[in-house]
This record gives sequence, structure tokens and C-alpha cells, in this order.
Amino acid sequence: MRIAMISEHASPMATLGSEDAGGQNVYVDEVSRRVAQLGYPVDVFTRREHPDQPPVCEWAPGVRVISLAAGRPEPIRKDQIWPHMAAFRDAAIAFVRADAAASLIHANFWMSGWAGCELKQRWQVPLVQIFHALGVVKRLHQGDADTSPNERPAVEQRILDESDWVIAQCPAEVDDLRTYYRADPARISVIPSGVNTRLFRPIPRGKARRLLGWPPDEPVVLYVGRLLPRKGIDNLIRTLPALAERITAPPRLVVVGGETATANLRDEPEMRRLHAIAVQTGVLDRVHFVGKRPGRELYRYYSAADVFVSTPWYEPYGLTPLEAMACGTPAVVAAVGGMQFTVLDGQTGFHVPPNAPEALAHRVAILLNDPSLRARFAVAARERVERHFSWAEVGRQVAELYGQILREGDGARERRGDGATGRQGKEAA
Ligand code: UDP
Repeated sequence: MRIAMISEHASPMATLGSEDAGGQNVYVDEVSRRVAQLGYPVDVFTRREHPDQPPVCEWAPGVRVISLAAGRPEPIRKDQIWPHMAAFRDAAIAFVRADAAASLIHANFWMSGWAGCELKQRWQVPLVQIFHALGVVKRLHQGDADTSPNERPAVEQRILDESDWVIAQCPAEVDDLRTYYRADPARISVIPSGVNTRLFRPIPRGKARRLLGWPPDEPVVLYVGRLLPRKGIDNLIRTLPALAERITAPPRLVVVGGETATANLRDEPEMRRLHAIAVQTGVLDRVHFVGKRPGRELYRYYSAADVFVSTPWYEPYGLTPLEAMACGTPAVVAAVGGMQFTVLDGQTGFHVPPNAPEALAHRVAILLNDPSLRARFAVAARERVERHFSWAEVGRQVAELYGQILREGDGARERRGDGATGRQGKEAA
């Protein structure tokens, strides 16, 4: 019952000490560990990024990371990996021929999905796909700024045609799959991405503020995440004057994120743009750019803030509101993508339209003015994360899906009477 977890650009090994590891690295790491504990040992296939990377690494109990030679053994930007995927596929075939076979493929992102389709044909095993983000939707929102290869939408369509099952991270992704790819919802399960509830944990606000050297009583609104135009941080800065009118003490906006550990206006165009907007809006003294912080330190920021805000106009999923909620901080979010699903409007935070500073100011002020409401939201937020978004829960749901697909494949083979090697393609679904 070995699972081939394919993730060409995002290796779980990059989660170790690296500040660059994104959501997919963490997903592959956490899900692999959890399903291995539940009886599905995993081989994670990823692209070799360093010459000294061992071809096979015993990563965690029941989890090996297989580093395949495909392109130069050095980091390559993900949008430039596509030409190396045929070599990646061939290396996976050669590895499995010499080592252990897989019973099921779980592919991450469109390029590994392509490899998954190829390997499924070869190995005659079911394919489960999670996209993490969709090319057509990305192009729609980012236009020419999207550097994905042109083949991406067609490859995604092939994956939808050939895979046995698709994991969507949230209901909005199911809608996108139906609208833009005509995907069959009967073969899609919503299983969210999780959050590490031991790392992201609440500590008392006063203690968190002492650790960070923040004043004890100033109202603080927090943003955490990459500094990109689509994240709508400009909108948040423009909210500050309206917010100041609605509450007694002037609020501070703390912005965590960027390319370096200290705010670096010279090299970061988006930070420069935001700084200029703060100057124009007359709130520069109320905005604090912290710079990038490692994930293990972020609970302090989330716990120290009164309200977390994330108002992008495009966001496939959005991990930061979940992290804030895990730390007991209410989240005010744009009603887009996964955030409509993770944040419960009026219970663990509020939804607002994207690009609507007035509506945002109104909702943030309600929370800043009402400590007992914040306390209620804080409890509900942590509870919601523990119940639905812990990695243990996510891993349980993924393992259950594997079991269902493997059983259906077995049933289909038995009905056909073709033994253990029959095709498990669409029959499994
Ligand atoms: N993050 C971090 N340090 C920072 C800023 C962000 O570790 O200084 C992490 C954050 O905790 C989250 C991730 O980067 O896990 C951002 O994920 P999200 O889904 O919010 O946005 P994405 O970067 O995928 O667009």
C-alpha cells in the first residue's frame, strides 16, 4: 500500500529551517507523515535541487524522500521546471523499477499531475490530484504577470480527464474546477490544507507584546504574508484614517513579510509602493513594516495583535487567516477563495468585499471596540481550527480517501476477474 506522493518543486526537506518553504512543501510533509502513521507508507518524489542531496532519504517514520535527477541539481524557479518533467517522469519509472512499487499516486500541482497521468498509465494504479492553484484562474487574475508555461491549462484539463479523484482545498476551488474546466463534482472531495496547531498557538496578548517590545495597550491590526499587489495591503493602509475616527486610541498597522528580515525599501518595490501610499494617506507613523519572520516566531505576532486582516482580491486558499485563528485572533478577510470557507463570518471573524476600505474599517472597528466580542471570536476561532484544520484531521481524511479509492479499484478488478494487475482507471472512481 505504498503511496507515490509527487511534488516536483516542493520538497518536505525544504521545510527544515528554510524560510522559503511555501504551503505546498508543508502540505506534502504533513500529509505524508499522517497517512504513513495511518498505514500508508509514502515515497515523496521531488526534483533534486543540490548535488549533495541523497537520492533516497529516510525522512520520517514511513516516509522516504526520493530526489530525482531532472535538470541541473540546483534550485530552479517553478515556472521553469516544465521542460524537465519528462526526465523527472523517466527517473521516477527507473526508481520504482529498481525499488518499491506504488499502489496509488497522489500528485501535487499541475506538473506533478502531468507526471501522475504518465505514471498511472505505466503503473496501472489510481491517481489522486491536488492542484494547490489553478492555471486558468491565475491567468484570469494576474494576466501578463503570470509566468506559468502556456501548456498549463491544457495539462490541467488532461489531469481532470485522466485522474481518478481530485482533492479541492475549499468549495470555491470546486466552483472554479466546474466553471473553468467542466470538472465532474462527483469525483472531487473538499479536504482543506491544515495548520500546525502546536506551532500556531495562543499565548496571552500581554506576554506576546512584551516578547515583541510592543506597547501594552495600543490597538494593533496585523497583516502577515508576502508583499504582493494582489494581497490588497494598500487597501488596508487606506483604511487607517477611517478606522482612527471610529476608535478612541489611534490604531497601528503591523505588516509582517517581505524578502528580508528587516524592512528593505530599496530592494522591495511593493514595500516602496505601500510606503508611498502610507505617506499620501498621512498615516506613515501608524504603519510598521517588520520584514520577514520565520514561521516558528509568528505565533507571537498573531497573539499580540487585536485583529488580523487579509484582504486580497485573489487568493486560492490563504493560510494566514487560519494561522491567526489558531492563535486565537479574529480575522477580517476579503470574501474570496478559501477564506470564505475557513473564516466563519460573524463567528471567527468577518468577511468584507475586496477593495472596500469603508467596509473594512467598519468591521475592524467593531472588533477593536469590543474586547468581549474579540474574546468570543478567539475561542470559536481556535476551536474551529482544532476541529477541521489540524493536520491530524486532514491526514485522516486523505487516508480515508485513499482507502476508498483502493477498495473501489479492488472491487472493480474482482468484478472483471482480472487479478491484481488490472487497470484501475476510471473504474476506481
Ligand atoms: N510567512 C512566513 N513569514 C513571513 C510571512 C509569511 O513564514 O514573514 C508564511 C505564513 O505564515 C504562511 C505563508 O507564508 O504560512 C503564506 O501563505 P498564504 O497561503 O497566506 O499566502 P501565499 O504566500 O501562499 O500566497
